Amino acid sequence: MGCPPPVQYDFPVPTAQQFICKKCRSLVTIESFRHTSDGIPYCRCPNCGAKNAVVETGLTPSQPGIIPVTRLLD
Ligand SMILES: [Zn+2]
Repeated sequence: MGCPPPVQYDFPVPTAQQFICKKCRSLVTIESFRHTSDGIPYCRCPNCGAKNAVVETGLTPSQPGIIPVTRLLD
């Protein structure tokens, strides 16, 4: 089995990216994103509360940009 990978979900990751909410179409600045228990990175929209699954870019806060939303989680 080897060593399991480190747990990467359920804690905020600092970032300066933005996304467009798939539900309400707001442009949201991401202060942090989280991972589901399945390891899917997502951001919660502050306007409508939708959980937007996003592409994890690995960009740092000094590399702002708009990241794609893949789908809504709930
Ligand atoms: Zn929204």
